[in-house]
Amino acid sequence: MEFVQPVGWLEALEAKAAHPGALPLWGGTDVMVDVNFARERPEAILDLTRVRELAEWEERDGTLRVSAGVSYARAIAELGDRLPGLAAASRTVGSPQIRNRGTIGGNLGSSSPAGDALPPLYASGAEIELASARGTRLVPIGEFITGPKRNVLAEDELIAGFQVRPAGGPQQFSKIGTRNAMVIAVCSFALALHPQERRVGTCVGSAAPTPVRADDAERFAAGVLDWDGGSPPDEAALTRFGELVAAAASPIDDVRGSAAYRRHALAVLARRSLAWAWSER
Ligand SMILES: Cc1cc2nc3c(=O)[nH]c(=O)nc-3n(C[C@H](O)[C@H](O)[C@H](O)COP(=O)(O)OP(=O)(O)OC[C@H]3O[C@@H](n4cnc5c(N)ncnc54)[C@H](O)[C@@H]3O)c2cc1C
Repeated sequence: MEFVQPVGWLEALEAKAAHPGALPLWGGTDVMVDVNFARERPEAILDLTRVRELAEWEERDGTLRVSAGVSYARAIAELGDRLPGLAAASRTVGSPQIRNRGTIGGNLGSSSPAGDALPPLYASGAEIELASARGTRLVPIGEFITGPKRNVLAEDELIAGFQVRPAGGPQQFSKIGTRNAMVIAVCSFALALHPQERRVGTCVGSAAPTPVRADDAERFAAGVLDWDGGSPPDEAALTRFGELVAAAASPIDDVRGSAAYRRHALAVLARRSLAWAWSER
């Protein structure tokens, strides 16, 4: 297997154009599992870990730009105040070793419906920056992921990172697993409140072919929340919100849980998340 190791971003883009079949690698926590189980036999590996530009993040003109090589550990330590939902999700990923190696960019690249970094990015309306030697384009995350482990990356493109506005209000992430750590989500739920715009962002993880926003639940919550007075939503509103979130999912029965359990759990997660988030405002 050929091993390509560019040391700069332009060199990386040129290398991808020259070797469209090369499989990009950062932390390798998905790639190496696939290679070791012979699910992947790429003609070449494109190791991006020497590309320093991919390990940076910055805030400019009210927008955060986080490069693909930022790890979960760094998202927790460095971005927790700006992106609390992503930091909360990052805390649930794997083990300390996986959080040190694994990256948000790698989670995007894998495009698994169970990827834990994805629901917070949907709930806060992130855009994914895709780059090639031809240029750069920004794609809303909901259009970037097209199916289980499928996305719109062209064969000469790399994920440069993502752009998102820092949290304008409370954010929550909750995840159900079959145990407390080192676990793939049975289902998960992310919530972002945008009090200034009186808007609610949501996303259901691991309960549909891709992460999905619960549009009806978002509209319902935006309408019933007492944005001016601040009084907490009543039980009936929380229950209805949970029902609408569960209805947005299209879960399957599998080894991790039944479809019925996932819907039930999502309703509970959503109800609790809204109450928690509201009490933090
Ligand atoms: C023990 C264990 C526990 C885990 N626990 C969790 C968990 O709790 N939650 C969770 O969501 N995931 C979990 N994972 C999966 C994995 O850690 C994550 O998906 C992680 O985000 C992958 O990041 P990485 O940098 O290691 O990606 P890599 O393995 O290097 O790459 C992953 C994919 O993204 C592509 N890619 C990487 N960078 C780029 C780029 N810049 N441009 C284009 N494509 C790119 C690769 O080609 C590959 O297809 C776990 C994995 C292991 C082994």
